[in-house]
Amino acid sequence: MENIGFIGLGIMGKPMAGNLIRAGHRLVVFDIRPEPVEELVRAGAKAAKSTRDVALQSDIVLTMLPNSPEVIDVVLGEEGAIEGMKPGTVLIDMSSIDPLVSREISEKLKHKGVAMLDAPVSGGEPKAVDGTLAIMAGGPREIFDRVKDILGVMGATVTHVGEIGSGNTAKLANQIIVALNIAAMSEAMVLATRAGVDPEKVFQAIRGGLAGSTALEAKMPLILDGQFKPGFRIELHLKDIRNVLDTARKLDAPVILSEKMMEILRSLAEEGKGKDDHGGIVQYYEKLAGVKVRRKTDGH
Ligand code: NAD
Repeated sequence: MENIGFIGLGIMGKPMAGNLIRAGHRLVVFDIRPEPVEELVRAGAKAAKSTRDVALQSDIVLTMLPNSPEVIDVVLGEEGAIEGMKPGTVLIDMSSIDPLVSREISEKLKHKGVAMLDAPVSGGEPKAVDGTLAIMAGGPREIFDRVKDILGVMGATVTHVGEIGSGNTAKLANQIIVALNIAAMSEAMVLATRAGVDPEKVFQAIRGGLAGSTALEAKMPLILDGQFKPGFRIELHLKDIRNVLDTARKLDAPVILSEKMMEILRSLAEEGKGKDDHGGIVQYYEKLAGVKVRRKTDGH
């Protein structure tokens, strides 16, 4: 069995690593925060001293970090994973980052004989815990085939999208659709609330029709409860939409709604709501309209 390294044990990485341990894999883990490392050591993982130390002990290195700068630092930086990787090692970066950065990192690793997949995920913390994430991977097909079963421990669907960077391109597409879905439901439900109509009844009335969606099912109950504990933080969605705009600029692709979305997310972050769940996008509309989209307490 191959030795697996796991770097970045946050909201997503910690339960994903936990599932690999439960599936019987040998894991070496590292995070700059000691708490999740200690927790995973209690579950059977080995703690490493640095990212380089993880790479020295691993055939496959997984990373689940916030954004492009952290992945560059962890993989290519001083004492980075690249220093400990041998030819034949595989890097699977599962963070959501700029797809063009995935390509750049992969090029640098190639010189060391190290192959890379970009394999970001969708589904959030509950699916990370259940091992039912949607995983979208880019990179060489033969490497994907080699590690598919490992990804399958963490995901219910594991799709090879194409060349390196295409996993993160799929993830950017995912993030545009999710953010705009939440903004659309916020706009619609604030309108309904302003009209004096119960938003919970509107939800019940429309969820089975064409407006129904996984995003509506996941976020509407939380919005109705005013429950914005993350989950997926607004600041991370802001990062993803910034990556959308950066990538679109380089490709000359039109992203009209994402530009508007960027303004909304930035304004929420500036108001100190960056750590709220992205369901909290509704608060932008609520503030403008002076109403709150909440359950009626009389039960009728
Ligand atoms: P998080 O902030 O909870 O976790 C990131 C972890 O990386 C932290 O534990 C942090 O200490 C660690 N870290 C940062 N710099 C490091 C370094 N230099 N060396 C070692 N460890 C370092 O973030 P998260 O919510 O787990 O998200 C991780 C990635 O997954 C992001 O790219 C995010 O966009 C993506 N994602 C998140 C969700 C979600 O619902 N939270 C869903 C899908 C995708």
